[in-house]
Amino acid sequence: MTEILPTDLCTICTEPIEQHTESYCNACGRVFHLNQREDLPGRDCGTVSLSETHLALVFICNSCGEEASAPTAPTALEAVLDLSEAAMATGLSENELQEQAAAGTISHRRTSGGALLFEREAIQALLHERGPA
Ligand SMILES: [Zn+2]
Ligand SMILES: [Zn+2]
Repeated sequence: MTEILPTDLCTICTEPIEQHTESYCNACGRVFHLNQREDLPGRDCGTVSLSETHLALVFICNSCGEEASAPTAPTALEAVLDLSEAAMATGLSENELQEQAAAGTISHRRTSGGALLFEREAIQALLHERGPA
């Protein structure tokens, strides 16, 4: 038997994959290293976790793991709402919000351009105070 099996290359590090490290990403379907044997050396180029919704093991390569976590990282953008966004979130009119801000009921920031900015937390606290409409 001289048959040579084609060796899969890891989509992350492009190194050959051993049988015990062969894993397929549930997101992109590509093969990557994930050591499934504690008694053998092997590298990890991704993660495996238990999906609570599907009660199944979910394999995610490092490439997809980074993509998945990237959009949630810049929370600084979403943590601040401008006046119209805050009005939409609270159901209050922009005037009411401006009055509340002027009265100091909502913590807010005023940009050099004069625009009001609210922290999402302050808006959520306001909603919580008012209770369901
Ligand atoms: Zn790898
Ligand atoms: Zn992937």
